[in-house]
Amino acid sequence: MLRTLVATHPDAHCELDFTTPLELAVATILSAQSTDKGVNAVTPALFARYPTALDYARADRAELEEMIHSTGFFRNKANSLIGLGAAVVERHDGVLPHTLDELVQLPGIGRKTANVILGNAFDVPGITVDTHFGRLVRRWGWTDLEDPVKVEHAIGELVPKRDWTMTSHRVIFHGRRVCHAKKPACGACTLAADCPAYGTGPTDPIQAAKLIKGPSRPHLLEMVGLSEDDAPAPAPRTAAERDVP
Ligand code: SF4
Repeated sequence: MLRTLVATHPDAHCELDFTTPLELAVATILSAQSTDKGVNAVTPALFARYPTALDYARADRAELEEMIHSTGFFRNKANSLIGLGAAVVERHDGVLPHTLDELVQLPGIGRKTANVILGNAFDVPGITVDTHFGRLVRRWGWTDLEDPVKVEHAIGELVPKRDWTMTSHRVIFHGRRVCHAKKPACGACTLAADCPAYGTGPTDPIQAAKLIKGPSRPHLLEMVGLSEDDAPAPAPRTAAERDVP
């Protein structure tokens, strides 16, 4: 299944835009209860206005809240960003640390966020257990555990450490594009032959193909011997659906 995921999602990557570890930390904090596309819409102006940890520490709260308002929970997120800036300045001379233990001590940064930062900004292998990842690895029988930290450790035993970060991206890509929570596209899924949950969603290839989302649809369909002509994508209905890149 790991090999199939590599071939299925060659474009898998962190979908938050960033150029520095601090920017990724900020974007990841903003992504809670928001879409990556929604976060990417506000971060260019935010990163220009607050280029350093000190800038967040000294931010005018009202201005910061206004800039991140559209990502939701803006008061809590503003608290986290100001607290993060202050803590990074006070404890780490303004430079974001690169160990899990240090990162999780910072305001707004839990274990999931820390693993995103380690894996994508510092090249330290990390497994990101978000809702997609947890749902899929349980569906596949890789673990039956629910607690994200236990899931992280269980999958860490199964997957070579060097592949932790990219496996996280590939599993999350599969969850966003193919293996949906309510109606997975089983009949048009590259993992069908190996998946113990095959049949959870429609097994008819045409019906299933209509459920596949994102710009890599042509590639995903081609991998199962289909094309857009066989199964035109229905128009997106919700903001969440439109947001799958
Ligand atoms: S076969 Fe169905 S349940 Fe299994 S990974 Fe594919 S879409 Fe998900």
